[in-house]
Amino acid sequence: MSQEKSKDRRSENNHRRSPALALLLAILIVAAFFVMSDVPFVKSARDSLMQKLGYEAIDQGNGNEGTNGNGNAGGDNTGGKNSGVKTTEWDTSSDLDSAALPEFNGQNYVKVSGGIPAFPDEVYERAGLIKDGDDWKTKGNLLGTVDSNKLTPYEYYGSLDDLGRCTYAFGLLGEETMPQNGQERGDISSVHPSGWAKAQNWERCHLIAWALSDENANPSNLITGTHYLNYDGMRPLEEETEHYIWNTGNHVLYYVKPWFVGDELVARGVQMTAWSVEDKGEGISFNVYCFNVTPNAEINYKTGIVTTEEQATQDARVYVINTRSGVFHYPTCDGVKEMSEHNKKTVTATRTELTSQGYTPCGACEP
Ligand SMILES: [Zn+2]
Repeated sequence: MSQEKSKDRRSENNHRRSPALALLLAILIVAAFFVMSDVPFVKSARDSLMQKLGYEAIDQGNGNEGTNGNGNAGGDNTGGKNSGVKTTEWDTSSDLDSAALPEFNGQNYVKVSGGIPAFPDEVYERAGLIKDGDDWKTKGNLLGTVDSNKLTPYEYYGSLDDLGRCTYAFGLLGEETMPQNGQERGDISSVHPSGWAKAQNWERCHLIAWALSDENANPSNLITGTHYLNYDGMRPLEEETEHYIWNTGNHVLYYVKPWFVGDELVARGVQMTAWSVEDKGEGISFNVYCFNVTPNAEINYKTGIVTTEEQATQDARVYVINTRSGVFHYPTCDGVKEMSEHNKKTVTATRTELTSQGYTPCGACEP
């Protein structure tokens, strides 16, 4: 009796299940269409749903093609969870041109190419990514996805140019390229980047931050930079990248390039481009130009001499020039006592007059 009953119940269930199965099948077909369709309206609905659900937006791409021939990193990231980037405060500028770099107007950085990251193909390929239409994926992965285990973290530092200037640095950054917990920074004071002048408050500024690269005294990774560039321009973006990597274990394509004008030895600014790979820029996505300036100071980008507002308005006074080295001092400096009479020249001038004639301030008395 009880067996019969259970049999009956089963057949009843089967009856109920068939319309349910048909419905399920229909839902699956619609879902498959929703996931795989290339119809733009369906794609955008899908991406926004994915973002709402906190999933990665698969198969982005077909955004702007970089006019410099670089591939596009895929997709417009407006509305993504780009924490830390103050989009509304940015200008939108086109690709950078060393003959017409953005002028500093009080912002820490400005967007390049609408803020959309783009890298030369080589940068993707070294990371183990292969082209998938306008997008990039790891080998053998369907739907353009990226498998962390198939990526190759790396760092690449361009050689110094003929003038001894840094060129660029790029890589696929991840926990593998970062310093281990508790590791301490090494000494970098041995490196004298191009344009480095003493006593001008210059800082050795990493292209790829130590916290991301574990690079210390690497001359191809250190430029002459202001405190403002280091802390107000680059640091927030570096920290955003660092925290993202620690929090997710994901990887970030990263490209940093100092921009020089003509044969100047100090960079006018630094371009930073980054794109998180596993989530296709959902976590990290920026392409910006940071200014190598000190607000209210004038920088001679050829000599590295910095003139503060206060120094610029100083009256003429007595300085002693070493005509052999081209260094000028306050008359009370020990360097003057040690100087041979033959090289000594006493002048009355303003600091600006001397620096514009090519003389450099002494690193000890800091005139
Ligand atoms: Zn001196």
